[in-house]
Amino acid sequence: VEQYLTRIDGHQHLNVFTEVYADEARQQATVVDQKIAAGTAGRLAGMVIGIKDVLSYAGHAVRAGSRILDNFTAQFTATAVQRLLDEDVIIIGRQNCDEFAMGSSNENSAFGPVRNAVDTDRVPGGSSGGSAVAVQAGLCLASIGSDTGGSVRQPAAFCGVVGLKPTYGRISRWGLIAYASSFDCIGPIANTAEDVALLLEIMAGADEFDSTVSSQPVPSYSTAQLPDRPLRIAYLRDGVESEGVDKSVREATQTSINILQKAGHTVEPVDLTLLKYLLPTYYILTTAEASSNLSRFDGVRYGYRSVATNTSALDLLSLYKKSRTEGFGAEVRRRILLGTFVLSASYYDAYYTKAQQVRRLIRQETERLFEQYDVLLSPTTPTPAFKLGEKTGQDSGADPLQMYLADIFTVQANVVGYPAISIPNGTDASRGDGPGLPIGLQFMAPPFAEEQL
Ligand code: GLN
Repeated sequence: VEQYLTRIDGHQHLNVFTEVYADEARQQATVVDQKIAAGTAGRLAGMVIGIKDVLSYAGHAVRAGSRILDNFTAQFTATAVQRLLDEDVIIIGRQNCDEFAMGSSNENSAFGPVRNAVDTDRVPGGSSGGSAVAVQAGLCLASIGSDTGGSVRQPAAFCGVVGLKPTYGRISRWGLIAYASSFDCIGPIANTAEDVALLLEIMAGADEFDSTVSSQPVPSYSTAQLPDRPLRIAYLRDGVESEGVDKSVREATQTSINILQKAGHTVEPVDLTLLKYLLPTYYILTTAEASSNLSRFDGVRYGYRSVATNTSALDLLSLYKKSRTEGFGAEVRRRILLGTFVLSASYYDAYYTKAQQVRRLIRQETERLFEQYDVLLSPTTPTPAFKLGEKTGQDSGADPLQMYLADIFTVQANVVGYPAISIPNGTDASRGDGPGLPIGLQFMAPPFAEEQL
């Protein structure tokens, strides 16, 4: 704990933690020490982790990177977090993220951007940017993030660490602040697949507080072995051929494909005919769900209330409007507006219903693919980490859709609810001006095949 606290102190410029639980972590460590001496310590005794600022931890602030949750304290602890605590994990702090987990660069946080430790002019990815950099920079051993469209895997790729999005319903969402409920998954980030497996094993499984969580038994992921037969691996042709994918990423992906082929696996290209509908489907459905989920933040029930309520906002509607306008950042407001639009009476069928239908088609196409293959391989992201400001439009006039493209390879797993992992796949060696930027490789598997991943 002391070592991590010192490192956290020395890396303030990365803006990873929104709150450090220094004294509490020290106390936890003392208790764990006693338990170890008594032989009663849990399986995670001594493991120091951080949690993304969307996970409730009783008695601690939880802000979802937003002003609207100013002064809000969690009343209860997320099931996933509680299960880790029950195994004597030590929580060292709360990690910065994009506001309400909406973003791909961690630039949408009320606490300011997180910086990539490899190159501090570059983004760490998002929305679990703080959680990924914390592991990358050695500020804790592992992090717990959330992944609605790539928020664990994409920052893991940008930071050169391992990130897992489990099957939808594998880990209880109780205590996770909702973004898009039919997509949201809690997922671990760590340096190794083994650590990720152990954390998954402890967090997963039935929970009476989340009706969407699966009651399927939890296998021993941490002792899983690779099957000793050749695997049937599909790879997305676009991932190694598309001009839209950075050359360094295409080459790294191709190298991995070659290695897998040499190892005796069948590795074949596939095309996803519905690829171009993934992002529109994802952004229509997630903004719809978000506009509904975020309606609870009204200036009355939680956190921030506009001070104008003392002067100009004298009726209920203007209290709502002023509090929400001041409390939510630009990207969250954009998505609430988009989501409200696609759910509005005149456009519901044209957008929302249509997107639900396309979601089903994508699921069917994905199911068919996995009748023939064990896993689907692709790059995690089309490019390595980009520069701060590059896609936010502030410096370059770029439009938000540019940012959404960063999710092209990750959203499929959430649209269909399948598990997917991002592992480090070397670095972009083409930059002469410093250490190479990390590149990620993604594997997706059928539901509840995390063991295989
Ligand atoms: N970047 C995607 C979005 O902004 C994914 C976010 C996430 O997985 N929480 O919606």
